[in-house]
Amino acid sequence: MGDCIFCKIANGEIPSRTVYEDEEFRAILDLGPATKGHTLILPKEHFADFFELPEEKAHHLMDVAKKLAPKLVSRLHADGLNIIQNNGAAAGQTVMHYHLHLIPRYENDGANLLWTPGKMSDEELDEVLKTLE
Ligand code: AMP
Ligand code: ZN
Repeated sequence: MGDCIFCKIANGEIPSRTVYEDEEFRAILDLGPATKGHTLILPKEHFADFFELPEEKAHHLMDVAKKLAPKLVSRLHADGLNIIQNNGAAAGQTVMHYHLHLIPRYENDGANLLWTPGKMSDEELDEVLKTLE
């Protein structure tokens, strides 16, 4: 993926504010942070999204997230943390190299990350359930 900026960042060809690195992943500070400490975990190998990420890498990714999330909260004195991951343009993905967002949250930080609850009838919910059986 010669023109993928996150490939270059993950592999150290473009400098980044790296908060964690191992043989498979790099975690960096987001350049347009939703809040203080907004961190992205990127695989060094190119995968477009969650669907392409192999299962073993997904497990390793969760190990990295389990290490970093509590560190972000404690060191930055955050009150909470969102873990977000967008897949596809329709879901808000803008960089087509897999990345997991760790977003520390602070009381009244004004970050607008949550959705408005929708409405669905019992019949519609049952129909969805049937589709997933
Ligand atoms: P998404 O919308 O889930 O694809 O998220 C892309 C994220 O990457 C956004 O939060 C951007 O602020 C961030 N971003 C884009 N380019 C860079 C970069 N060069 N270094 C660090 N973060 C970046
Ligand atoms: Zn890439």
